[in-house]
Amino acid sequence: MSRSVLVTGGNRGIGLAVARRLGAGGDRVAVTYRSGPPPEGLFGVRCDVQDAAAVDDAFDKVEAAQGPVEVLVTSAGITNDTLLIRMSEDDFTSVVDTNLTGTYRVVRRAARHLMRAKAGRVVVISSTAAMSGVVGQVNYAASKAGLIGMARSLARELAPRGVTVNVVAPGLTDTDMAAALTQGQRDKIVGQIPLGRMATADEVAVTVAFLASAEAAYITGVVIPVDGGMAMGH
Ligand code: NDP
Repeated sequence: MSRSVLVTGGNRGIGLAVARRLGAGGDRVAVTYRSGPPPEGLFGVRCDVQDAAAVDDAFDKVEAAQGPVEVLVTSAGITNDTLLIRMSEDDFTSVVDTNLTGTYRVVRRAARHLMRAKAGRVVVISSTAAMSGVVGQVNYAASKAGLIGMARSLARELAPRGVTVNVVAPGLTDTDMAAALTQGQRDKIVGQIPLGRMATADEVAVTVAFLASAEAAYITGVVIPVDGGMAMGH
């Protein structure tokens, strides 16, 4: 069955892997992008999740092109790492505004139709940082932990309407975000991963695709780590 899917941050990294995987499964997939061009073969809508009007406009375009969003994956996210004593208020709020408030803007806009349709899937990309905390990521970890509370509350709100809301918490994943770290920083993190390597974006996408599938109908409000065993016990 072909569903209308929107992946925020779907123009690269984990979001792109999710978009390609769901597209290969037959879904009609749209992705947000901020600067062009959008990826080949996917319907791109320009959207900065920090801008509520842009989010609304992006949904209007997706609805016109492929119908109301039935599966929403929120992958748009940024880091801006520094120790708390050097972290300006803007360093903190800009990360929270993108990762947490940006996701609020998107799920709020999507919820309208999902509630009417009495069916649908929301998958939110958090991070193992939400559970473990990371030196230099007070802003990022706070935003990613906030997403878990948001998703679980939304899971309860939407469950009576047959909509599931789940969280995937990747560990270090081989994308531009990980490439921004130094080799030394990556080696240090990999040293703490039982499976001894980073995830590929597609390994995260597989889990997202499962949670978005019809088969996952009885799973809601969960947080699934995809982290090579790094966050075991959290
Ligand atoms: P990338 O840096 O490769 O991609 C980030 C994506 O988010 C891009 O598509 C980017 O769009 C988009 N984005 C950033 N800010 C905005 C914004 N304001 N509005 C719209 N889109 C935006 O990162 P990943 O693919 O690795 O990360 C995807 C998600 O996974 C993020 O939420 C991240 O926090 C999370 N994650 C990543 C991990 C990793 O190790 N890579 C580990 C754990 C979680 P654009 O191209 O326009 O910049």
